[in-house]
Amino acid sequence: AAKARGGASCHFFSEQMNERLQRRMGLEAALRNAIATGELELHYQPQVSVTDGRVVGAEALLRWRHDGRFIPPDHFIPVAEETGMIHAIGDWVLDTAIAQAARWRATYASPPRLAINLSPRQFWHSGLARGIIQRLQNHDLPPECIELEITESVLIQPEGPAIGELRVLRQHGLHLALDDFGTGYSSLSYLRNLPVNRLKIDKSFIFPLAGSSTDNPEDAAAIVRAIIAMAHSLSLSVVAEGVETAAHLHTLQNMGCDLYQGYLLSPALPAGQFADRFLEPN
Ligand code: C2E
Ligand code: MG
Ligand code: MG
Ligand code: MG
Repeated sequence: AAKARGGASCHFFSEQMNERLQRRMGLEAALRNAIATGELELHYQPQVSVTDGRVVGAEALLRWRHDGRFIPPDHFIPVAEETGMIHAIGDWVLDTAIAQAARWRATYASPPRLAINLSPRQFWHSGLARGIIQRLQNHDLPPECIELEITESVLIQPEGPAIGELRVLRQHGLHLALDDFGTGYSSLSYLRNLPVNRLKIDKSFIFPLAGSSTDNPEDAAAIVRAIIAMAHSLSLSVVAEGVETAAHLHTLQNMGCDLYQGYLLSPALPAGQFADRFLEPN
């Protein structure tokens, strides 16, 4: 009987694996068509000054509308990275976001700086910096209108070209932000070598700030306070992401955090809605 059960569970697992593989292959095939079929969109989330509530930035976040629903980026970006499709998708994001920033600049008074996420793999192809600078020139867009968000995993190849590319971008006047700060594995020493302007504190540190007692809000607060102090002493500004409640914001205000993003003000919105809500016509 035991053997029969074992056999049955083996069968069960292989069915499940087969199903997962099928789903994964379906996802891959669909993603391959997503650009051509116009299923990708960028939505924009405001980045807000903690001190005066002004919208000073916007982060472009990729959305894939497939079969009538949105597939979250955390599901398909890893697939895009593993298959190399991230190069085509990343180029589409850069084209779309930079064109959007140029349109906002032409239409609105004091448009927000536009932050664009880059995958570490995009640095594997040489000429990333050159391509970005070329796009800015094509649109006549000043480099300081764009911020690039990278994660510390760009340094996964310490001998790789990423640092050089980042220096070129920074020297050219683009802004650089280190995303998901606190979730990586590197030592802090890399911070001195990365030419970034800004740290983004991952939302996993913000959520427990004003949470239930089991979340240990004191410990969370100590970490966030320490990150802000360290950033400021390195002359970096700080963005907190995942600000969902007035209590989160209040705590960050007391800590001297510079900017925040979060559902408290708004999730990422389609470009038109973002403009209607947050931009002032010229
Ligand atoms: P990220 O760059 O750290 O983006 C922040 C994520 O937090 C976004 O999730 C955003 O919608 C979410 N968020 C913002 N405020 C709140 C809040 O108050 N509460 C909660 N629960 N979540 C909040 P999203 O849009 O699902 O993106 C997930 C990740 O996918 C991004 O994390 C980024 O790593 C990646 N991603 C998104 N767009 C792109 C892209 O164009 N290129 C690349 N390479 N990666 C992207
Ligand atoms: Mg980001
Ligand atoms: Mg982030
Ligand atoms: Mg994050």
